Amino acid sequence: MALACGYSPPSVGSLRSAEPKWEGVHDFAVPVLMYHRVCPLTDEEASNELTRDLTVLPGDFEAQIKHLTDKGFAILSVYDIQNALLGGGKLPEKAVALTFDDGYRDNFEHAFPILQKYGASATIFLVKNTVDGPKHLTWNMIRTMRPKGVRYGSHTVSHPDLTSLSNGALDFELVESKQFIETGLGEPVTALAYPAGRFDDRVVLHARNAGYLTAWDKGGGPVRPGDDPLRLPRVRVHGQTSMREFERKVWSGYWERKIETDEFKRG
Ligand SMILES: [Zn+2]
Repeated sequence: MALACGYSPPSVGSLRSAEPKWEGVHDFAVPVLMYHRVCPLTDEEASNELTRDLTVLPGDFEAQIKHLTDKGFAILSVYDIQNALLGGGKLPEKAVALTFDDGYRDNFEHAFPILQKYGASATIFLVKNTVDGPKHLTWNMIRTMRPKGVRYGSHTVSHPDLTSLSNGALDFELVESKQFIETGLGEPVTALAYPAGRFDDRVVLHARNAGYLTAWDKGGGPVRPGDDPLRLPRVRVHGQTSMREFERKVWSGYWERKIETDEFKRG
C-alpha cells in the first residue's frame, strides 16, 4: 500500500505520553457509548424511523451527560481505553466513553456545547468524503473541538461495507482516511470504527496492517481487559433510548465488576 507523497506518520509514542494517567482498576469494565446525531428534529425527520433512531434530542443528551457527571462517572476518550488495553493500565471503576459516528455537523452545533458545559470528552469517527460537506463537520469545527477534549478516529473514506471490498479498495478506505485526519490534525489516528459494524477476519488483518491499534464494532457490552483490540464492543444509544435504559447501559460495567467482586469475596 503506497503512502501519500511526502507523508510521514506522526509517532504513536508521543500521543501515549500525552495521555492522562487514570487512577483506577486493572480489571475495568467500560461501556463505550455510540451516538450519531444530536439535534432537534423537524416534523418530516421525526416521521422517518431511521432518522429518529439515529438522532438523540439535545434535551435528552444533556440529561444523559448530567446523569454521568452527577453520579461521578469519568468520561474517557477511546484513546484512554486504547492505552489501558494495550499497556495493561488502569481505568476508573466508574467510567464510560462517548463516541459519535459519521461526523455530523450537529455534533459541533448541539453536542459540543453540552460536552463543554459538563467538561466531558468525546471521540468522533470521521468519514473522509463527508468532511466539509453541508451536513457534516468542517475542518474548522474539527480543529476547534480538538483542544477542548474531542478526539478523532477514522470511519473510512466512503463508509462502505468493508467486507465486500477487494484488498486494494479495502486498503484505500483504511489508509487514506487515517492519513487524511492525521495530516489535518498533525497527530496519530489509531482508532477505527467499522461502518455499520461490518468486519471479518480479513478486514481486521488489513486494519492492523494499516496501523490501527483499536477498532470498534456497533454493538456489545462494556470493554474488558483482554478483549481483542481490533474487535471492540460499543453500546448503542438510540433516539428513543429512555433515561431508564440509558442508566442500565452506563451502569452495566460497574455492576458487572461488582457482581464478580462480590462473588469472589463470597468464595
Ligand atoms: Zn457510520
